[in-house]
Amino acid sequence: MKQNRRQFIKTSALAAAALTAPNISATTAAKKQPLLYKKMKLSWTSYNLQLRHVFTISGFSRKTTPVVLTKIEFDGLEGYGEASLPPYLGETQESVIDFLKKVDLSGFHDPTHLEEILEYVDHIAPGNTAAKASVDIALHDLAGKIIGSPWYKMYGLDKMKVPDTTFTIGIDTDEIIREKTKEALGRFNILKVKVGGPDDKRVIETIRSVTDLPLTVDANQGWKDKYYALDMIHWMKEQGVVMVEQPMAKDDYEGNAWITENSPLPVFADESVQRLHDIERVKGAFSGINIKLMKCTGMREAWKMRHLAQALGMKVMIGCMTETSCAISAAAQLSSGLDFADLDGALLIANDCFDGAKLENGKIIVADLPGIGVKLTQKAIRFFNE
Ligand code: MG
Repeated sequence: MKQNRRQFIKTSALAAAALTAPNISATTAAKKQPLLYKKMKLSWTSYNLQLRHVFTISGFSRKTTPVVLTKIEFDGLEGYGEASLPPYLGETQESVIDFLKKVDLSGFHDPTHLEEILEYVDHIAPGNTAAKASVDIALHDLAGKIIGSPWYKMYGLDKMKVPDTTFTIGIDTDEIIREKTKEALGRFNILKVKVGGPDDKRVIETIRSVTDLPLTVDANQGWKDKYYALDMIHWMKEQGVVMVEQPMAKDDYEGNAWITENSPLPVFADESVQRLHDIERVKGAFSGINIKLMKCTGMREAWKMRHLAQALGMKVMIGCMTETSCAISAAAQLSSGLDFADLDGALLIANDCFDGAKLENGKIIVADLPGIGVKLTQKAIRFFNE
């Protein structure tokens, strides 16, 4: 582990310096030598995120989230990436590292050829979406640094025109729900409530005893009966809920479609949609989709999903796992103009090791740095060197 960390961090001080100054000198240097002679080097390290609160969604509770941080070095520049691995998604630090060991970037000489490189990465093995995202994000970060631009600019987006991010309240005791809600006051303009448990009304009423902020709810497939679910949605609308995520089981197309058709609120697919090819299948069953980098293999596919969903007349939200500011910043680069953003993942952890996108007036706003807009914190540089 220590050796890994040292390798990971070896040139981080240099990279931090390169990030604070424009990358013009590095870009100029890159132009002097043909790219053909330069090679990309991928490295990684495991890291465990400590959650500020025990996190409970329908069916699971936990206090930590394992991640794997990646780095791609090329011509004096470094791109950072991350795989976040909440246990219910099936990937582990071991499976990510096994995948990363198979990634051979030696055949590629220009990191800005994202389509070609990421097509290769996607075909190494099926699944492994978070592992693939960790390569995708690091490559986007690196490519942006080579080009000298943050990705939101290359996407043609206004970084300030992003939706308010939701702040997630898990299923918990009344006391903790009240405490978490109070923690959100003055910082967030909308809250996301995990429902789908036996006592959803109590959870909503507890939050309502503290604030009138608009709410979104995420049932995480927890509702088992469509009539019950629709009754809950009608009741929740009266309580100021504005959107519902994944009411029924991910493969219950009919149940979810019936709810969407009858619901007074927009209904978004999360677990029902992982990747680009899933969108066509859920068209008609949901009002919108929740795109997450960890399930769709990263920024490249997320960007395509956004456009396909919108072309099909669906709404789009961008979500996250508990992640450091690395993966959050990557997602935030493409959040402008979307219907909802749920990008509080880095705010839920106590040991973020990146500086990046920040909460400003209830929105997650990216830093004006090339790439995904992150640098390792000084504390993290010390940690990885120990
Ligand atoms: Mg969800």
